[in-house]
Amino acid sequence: MNQAVQFRSTRDKNQVGYSLLEAVEKGLAPDGGLFLPETMPSIAWHSLPSTSFQECAEAYLNQWLSGSISIDQVSTWVQSALDFPVPLVSLGDSNTHVLELYHGPTLSFKDFGARSMAFLLGERIRETQTPVTILVATSGDTGSAVADGLSGIEGVRVVLLYPKDQVSKVQEKQLISKRPGVVSVRVAGTFDDCQRMVKGSFSDPKLSNEHLSTANSINIGRLIPQMLYYVWATRLLMSERCNFVVPSGNLGNLTAGLIAHLSGMPVAHFVAAHNDNDFFPRYLNNPDSHFKDSKRTVSNAMDVGAPSNFERLTSLLKYETLKALVSGLSISDAETRASISEVYKSSGYIADPHTAVGLVAAKEARSMLHAKGPIVVLSTAHPAKFPEIVEKEIGKALPEPSQLSALDSKPVNVIDLDPEQAQLAELILSSKW
Ligand SMILES: *Cc1c(COP(=O)(O)O)cnc(C)c1O
Repeated sequence: MNQAVQFRSTRDKNQVGYSLLEAVEKGLAPDGGLFLPETMPSIAWHSLPSTSFQECAEAYLNQWLSGSISIDQVSTWVQSALDFPVPLVSLGDSNTHVLELYHGPTLSFKDFGARSMAFLLGERIRETQTPVTILVATSGDTGSAVADGLSGIEGVRVVLLYPKDQVSKVQEKQLISKRPGVVSVRVAGTFDDCQRMVKGSFSDPKLSNEHLSTANSINIGRLIPQMLYYVWATRLLMSERCNFVVPSGNLGNLTAGLIAHLSGMPVAHFVAAHNDNDFFPRYLNNPDSHFKDSKRTVSNAMDVGAPSNFERLTSLLKYETLKALVSGLSISDAETRASISEVYKSSGYIADPHTAVGLVAAKEARSMLHAKGPIVVLSTAHPAKFPEIVEKEIGKALPEPSQLSALDSKPVNVIDLDPEQAQLAELILSSKW
């Protein structure tokens, strides 16, 4: 058996030696840094099973987390949290594939991380018997996936913050659906305001006894399961030269792909496909680039001005290495919309706006990179989550998936706050849910 992977902070070099479940419970390291593995396990990807995503996932996790959690825990994890299909759909032409990550209960790839993190947190609470309060800032899809995964776990309560008027109708319907142990907070501000309120709460002395944790893409428990589908696609295609195009916002998905690569999965290249919120593409061109305030786009789950996982990327890889392995592209709303109708016309494939950002980037990348290997575009959300945009481009109505129609008959639960951390602190201390 391997030595169990231990986790370190991205900041203070002395912050090391955290176990998986400790790191998941804490969310952030005590110095405010983000957790990363201290060493990368080396996994023999080609001997993983290709029979089903679940079998591949179990085999991979058993190796990657050997000594951290038991084989039985891994099996319960995969069967309870990751029990949905992960199809790789070929677009027919030019060796381009779409990896559909949106078949979970909340119809976005956030289900992988959020449901896994919920499982791991439940295991930690069983171990320590200490209740926790989870703060989640969401730009659309994280919140409902986390709320779904965590609701009903004993000892867990959840506060979901989302920016008012900046999520789609369907997303809001999912966010405010009443769930045991969960309160939704509609903030009169931007996603960056929500993220700031969450970060501020961790250093607020009034909240020091509250056992706070986070569940947005900064929790390492979210990133580990996100490695699984990169490995799955690589195994299915049996290629050492896959190019992964990743629709990106907070850069969690990209970071997970890089961790999989550093753990032995061969790749040709990664493309970080951003919308108009283009900090990372600018940074890859010029390391002196700065964060900007977020702008609203049609791919709103990627409207992030200051990506939280950027700190992980720079801690994992030197600038030159990152630049050699990853390209960044910024795609406009007009290109995104046009791509939805173009791809539908040419292949019959219906893409949501986030996936469409990836499809435009894939097209640009093919000529730019002279890529010979397969291109795998990660499809991060179900098109029916964005009917206003998608139906207009494809010229027909989309059927509503059962995961969504079921919400209409459910009660809701939401509180309005100003973008001030003090108001959030008051809510947390009031324990009113
Ligand atoms: C969160 C999200 C993204 C961006 O993922 P990051 O890990 O934050 O880069 C892309 N698409 C959808 C649909 C999302 O919900």
